[in-house]
Order: sequence, then structure tokens, then C-alpha cells
Amino acid sequence: MKVYQNEFGISSTKRTEVIDITGRVEKIVEKSGVKNGICQIFLTHATAGLILQEAESGLTRDIEKMIQKQFPKGAGYEHDRIDDNADSHLASGFIGQSEIIPIKDGEMMRGTWQSILVLELDGPRNHRRVFVTIIGE
Ligand code: ZN
Repeated sequence: MKVYQNEFGISSTKRTEVIDITGRVEKIVEKSGVKNGICQIFLTHATAGLILQEAESGLTRDIEKMIQKQFPKGAGYEHDRIDDNADSHLASGFIGQSEIIPIKDGEMMRGTWQSILVLELDGPRNHRRVFVTIIGE
């Protein structure tokens, strides 16, 4: 059994933004040399989210709009008294900050329409950290 860990940084240009990281995670899986096991992707942030979803441009805009609708900014939240980003924390908490994908024969077992998407919820940010742990053999 092998444990391989690696990380990379991403930046965002908007307050709410969908960022496709599939290719970068695939490179880490390849580098790990693990043929069968699992890949966990984890964000070290409380105002970003992680989902598996189709990266079609219309759908990513729909996702951004849905987040803004479900978690409107400045809707009288208590945390806004100190930080003005309660909506970002709430969206991040409900969406989640990690995913696990099986690895089989050296490839992630993603469905055709399951891209790995980071949801920036409090951008723009210069450095969002994506931490990847691969366990297997
Ligand atoms: Zn805050």
C-alpha cells in the first residue's frame, strides 16, 4: 500500500467562479504511480467548494447563478458583522470541500460528465490550495 500526496495552487478572478481542475488532478494520479486505489481531493478553505459535475460553459454559469440565488450576499447574517462573507461560508459548508474518486488501472473512474470543479465562493483570490492524497498500490 502506498500513500502519495501532492498539492497545487489556483487563483480566481470573480467572487463566484467555477474552476475546472480535472487535468491537474489527473497529472498527480499519473505521477503517483498508483494503479488501483482512491484519490481524495481536499480544499484547505472554508469559503470554497468542490463538486463533480459537467464543465459545460452554460452549466457552469448556471451553477454560479444558483449559488448566488441560494446563498445571497448580505442577507442579514450574523457573521457579516465581523467578516462580510457569511454567504461564502454557508455555501462552502453545505456544498462540501472534498471528493473521493476511485482509481482503476491507473485511471480515475470518473463518469464522462464528471469533471472535478472547484467553486470559488469568496473571490477573487490569488492562492487557493488544492491538496491531493492518493492511496493504493
Ligand atoms: Zn468569514
